[in-house]
Amino acid sequence: MSEVKSIAVIGAGIMGSGITYTAALAGIRAYLIDVVPGQLEKAQKYHAKTLGRAVEKQKMTQEQADAAQALITYHSDMAEAKDADWAVEAATENVELKKQIYAQMKETFGPDVVLATNTSSISITDIATAVGDAADRVIGMHFFNPVPVMKLVEVIKGLSTSEETTKRTLELAERMGKSPVPANDRAGFVANRILMPMINEAFYAWMEGVAEPEHIDQIMMLGMAHPMGPLRLADLIGLDVCHHIMMVLYDELGHDKYFPCPLLRQLVTAGRLGNKTGIGVYDYSKK
Ligand code: NAD
Repeated sequence: MSEVKSIAVIGAGIMGSGITYTAALAGIRAYLIDVVPGQLEKAQKYHAKTLGRAVEKQKMTQEQADAAQALITYHSDMAEAKDADWAVEAATENVELKKQIYAQMKETFGPDVVLATNTSSISITDIATAVGDAADRVIGMHFFNPVPVMKLVEVIKGLSTSEETTKRTLELAERMGKSPVPANDRAGFVANRILMPMINEAFYAWMEGVAEPEHIDQIMMLGMAHPMGPLRLADLIGLDVCHHIMMVLYDELGHDKYFPCPLLRQLVTAGRLGNKTGIGVYDYSKK
């Protein structure tokens, strides 16, 4: 199989923009696709700003930044990326939407193209049901946020994913400067299976008055060498996203220990979702 020269990224949100940027820095031609008005413009601004900052900090030359930017193009129609020899779906976390996109990906891209997904919590095996006999080319390629900075890519094999697809995905992630680690298709994979119950437990500790949120975070940072405490991290991820992933773990693994903490549920109900709403565990309207 020849080397991957171009990649189509479907979904121009936080993750899709980061994946495109990282691919371009590795010299890979990147097509970024989104159907929601304004998202491609936002992604383009993010790329220009991030490259500009890298030049300012002398992490790359202006020529290198220009070369990376020239490798990225922006499209509202997936068909314009039909010549890509790799595809990564990074659209909104919704199983029905992803299945629709996958059916379109199968029709659009060539028969050897790997159809990777960046999903955090949806079963790879389930997504693969949307592409019938192409299920061997479906794989999880789970980048972490912010993509240009975080080294990990969790590479998740669905039930029908071929060895060839897995091998090629590990290779591509390495070429993109990442450290890929394989995992199997179980709820939450590895990272969220372990991270989310820890975050949930931090909400219990807060709810039960074991300590104030700042102190819970300080203890985990100072004692476990975590760069950020679990409650602060929950605000960054989004409390709704944490709640959703706990429900996926609970539904699929069927154990009470995965049920979202009542305080987490209540904050989500109140619309206190973290950084994105200006208030979550912490209030970001105050300095
Ligand atoms: P986001 O909401 O920032 O972006 C999603 C993008 O998908 C939006 O720009 C939206 O317009 C686009 N989209 C919706 N329907 C589309 C369609 N039919 N075709 C093309 N684009 C479409 O979300 P995000 O945070 O970038 O997450 C994307 C994926 O990555 C999700 O599956 C999420 O679970 C996963 N993920 C997110 C993070 C994170 O920290 N944000 C980390 C790892 C994985």
